[in-house]
Amino acid sequence: RQEQFRRLRDTPASTKDGVDVSLMINAGLMMDLPHLQESGASGIGLFRTELQFMIASSFPRLGEQEGFYRDVMEGAGDKPVTFRSLDVGGDKVLPYIRTHPEENPALGWRAIRLGLDRPALLKTQIRALLKAAAGRTLRLMFPMVTEVSEFERAAQIVRNEEAHLRRHDHPTADKVELGAMLEVPSLLWQLDELLAKVDFLSVGSNDLFQFLMASDRGSTRLAGRFDALSPAFLRPLRKVAHRARDMGKPVSVCGEIAGRPLEAMALLALGYRSLSMAPSSIGPIKAMILELRLEPLAERLNAMLDEDVSASELRTELRAWANIE
Ligand code: PEP
Ligand code: MG
Repeated sequence: RQEQFRRLRDTPASTKDGVDVSLMINAGLMMDLPHLQESGASGIGLFRTELQFMIASSFPRLGEQEGFYRDVMEGAGDKPVTFRSLDVGGDKVLPYIRTHPEENPALGWRAIRLGLDRPALLKTQIRALLKAAAGRTLRLMFPMVTEVSEFERAAQIVRNEEAHLRRHDHPTADKVELGAMLEVPSLLWQLDELLAKVDFLSVGSNDLFQFLMASDRGSTRLAGRFDALSPAFLRPLRKVAHRARDMGKPVSVCGEIAGRPLEAMALLALGYRSLSMAPSSIGPIKAMILELRLEPLAERLNAMLDEDVSASELRTELRAWANIE
C-alpha cells in the first residue's frame, strides 16, 4: 500500500465526479519539511510554531525565529505555509515563561490569550514572521480565538508591526493573510462577524470537539466515548462550511479527523474542500477521494443529518459507501 500511495503522489486529489480537494500537511519542525514533497501535499495547512519554542531552553530571539521561519518557507518552495502563532500555555509549558498552576489548563491562560497579555512575545513572533516572509505572502492564524475582538487585536498588532518595518525600510511580507482557528465553540455564534474580519478560517477539530463535548482530548478513559461523526458535531461543522462559502472565505479543517478516511468523507459531504493532516494520512485520504462519488454521498449524508440520526448510523452509512465505491 505504501508503494501504491507513492504512485499517487503527483495525481491531483479529485473525486470521481470531478470535485477538487486540496490536501495539506500539518508540520512543526524542519524535519517535517521533506514530507511536503514526498507526500505530494499542496502545502502546509498548519505549522505549529510552538514546537520550536518547546525544544528551546530559553525564549528564541527575534533573529532565531526569523531564520527558522525563513528556512521553513524556503523549504516549502512555492507551496503555501500557514503559520499558527504560539499555542502555548495550559499543559504546553515553556520553562522560561512564568505561569501559575491552573485547575483546567485546557481552558486556561494559553494561546492567543497569553499572546495578547504578553504582547512583547507576540510582537516578536509577528515581526520575525513578517521579516522572514519578505518577497512572499505571509499566512498567519491565531489559535483559541474565543471572541472576534481577540482576532481584531491580534490583527492590529500585525498591522502595527508591518507599518513599523516599512517605516524603517526593513523588508517585510509582500502580502499578509490573517486567519482564525475555529476551535472554541463560542465562535459558532459569531460566525458572520468573524468571517467578515478574517481572510480565512481553519477548524481545529481536536479542540473544537473537546470543548463541544466537554471531553478531555487526552483522557484515555474518554477516548472513543464520543464519536466525531456525532450529529452534534457534524451539524455545526456543516454550518461553518456553508457560512464560509456564502461569505466567500476559504475554510479548512486541520484537526485529526481530516486524516481519517470516513471522517474526511463526511467533511467533504458537509462542504469542506481543504483538509490538513499528518503527512502519513495524505496517501490514504487521496486514495479515498479518487474512488469517491461525492455528489450522491453529500445528498444522502445531509438528508440524514436533517433527520433524527445517530453517530453509529452515520458511520455505518459511510462505511457502506466506502465499500461500494
Ligand atoms: C486542533 O485543535 O484541532 C488543532 C489542529 O490544534 P492542536 O491539535 O495543535 O491543538
Ligand atoms: Mg488546537
